[in-house]
Amino acid sequence: MPARNDPDGTGPVSLIGLPRERLEAELAALGVPEGQRRMRARQLFRWIYARGADAFSRMTDLPAELRDRLAEHCSLSRPRIVAEQRSADGTCKWLLRFADGQEVESVFIPEEDRGALCISTQVGCTLSCSFCHTGTMPLVRNLSAGEILAQMLVARDMLGEWPSGRPGRLFTNLVVMGMGEPLLNYDNLATALRIAMDPAGLDLSKRRITVSTSGVVPRIEQCGRELGTGLAISLHAVRDALRDRLVPINRRWNIATLLEACRHYPSRRAITFEYVMLRGVNDSDADARELVRLLRGIPAKVNLIPFNPWPGAPFVCSSNDRMRAFAAIIEAGNIAAPIRLPRGRDILAACGQLKTASQRHRAA
Ligand code: SAH
Ligand code: SF4
Repeated sequence: MPARNDPDGTGPVSLIGLPRERLEAELAALGVPEGQRRMRARQLFRWIYARGADAFSRMTDLPAELRDRLAEHCSLSRPRIVAEQRSADGTCKWLLRFADGQEVESVFIPEEDRGALCISTQVGCTLSCSFCHTGTMPLVRNLSAGEILAQMLVARDMLGEWPSGRPGRLFTNLVVMGMGEPLLNYDNLATALRIAMDPAGLDLSKRRITVSTSGVVPRIEQCGRELGTGLAISLHAVRDALRDRLVPINRRWNIATLLEACRHYPSRRAITFEYVMLRGVNDSDADARELVRLLRGIPAKVNLIPFNPWPGAPFVCSSNDRMRAFAAIIEAGNIAAPIRLPRGRDILAACGQLKTASQRHRAA
């Protein structure tokens, strides 16, 4: 079913997130003759993703009559930006509200010669990792392919970076690391990423896209085979007893099973292992040594993430000295282990926090 913008399904069809063959089907429904559909779909696709059109009236190479029919039956509308925060370090965070009132966050993190947009794939998350704020949110639903893609369009809109494909842009990389577990919404994610990677679409190379997962093992293999993007694994613990508590999906697919899937992942890039630093919980020298041993034979890099506290969180972040000592042991094992700079701390950049602040504000 095409994504409808209204609950009873009679309103305009959102074209964002429809692959080209689905655009052709929508054009057929509008009476476009068969011989023209493919060309018209290609034109529409370029307008939407390469040029960022948000109104059919701009599509000057389409017949006026078709533009009118599209405007009547279809939509290119983006989610509403209900909060925006810009940090002193350039990080921008947007809280986006979809037609049904549900909200997710996306974060843009600029660096010197590139910039990464971090997008969400679900409202909330069903997996309840004990250190993660998103996992405590009561409402959960999958985002549609269009809602996943719309986050990229909004970022391009806000950064003023249309058309796609020009050199020197800020938004060069995509990380699927916002709210939700992307591999539990695989089909919609795959549809969105195929359009993002399409040279006639957003034209982002798979080498500039990273999907982060807490370890949905069967989908890891599928993601590698079908999409070939970079992979990040939220590891956070080196022993099953602890990982069962921190990342409960470990009870279904344990550390050994997860690392076996990593060994077979086809991307030529190193796999990033994310490791959140929790004081007195997972940050001992012995943990660091075990991490080096586990990763042997896997092209790997470790991102040490200072725990980002949220109200009521049952953990605190390891001290700077502890994080440096932990990193040094991993580096001595010939694995890069940067301590990720906490970006945008002043704007609540930990995933889920802007949304909670907005809900508190409305409740008050
Ligand atoms: N569900 C996916 C992607 C979203 S979470 C996953 O778990 O990988 C993105 C990253 O943020 C994960 O590595 C997650 O473990 C980490 N994270 C979640 N809450 C955090 C917090 N409070 N402080 C630091 N990192 C956190
Ligand atoms: Fe979900 Fe990832 Fe948070 Fe775990 S860390 S609850 S998988 S969003």
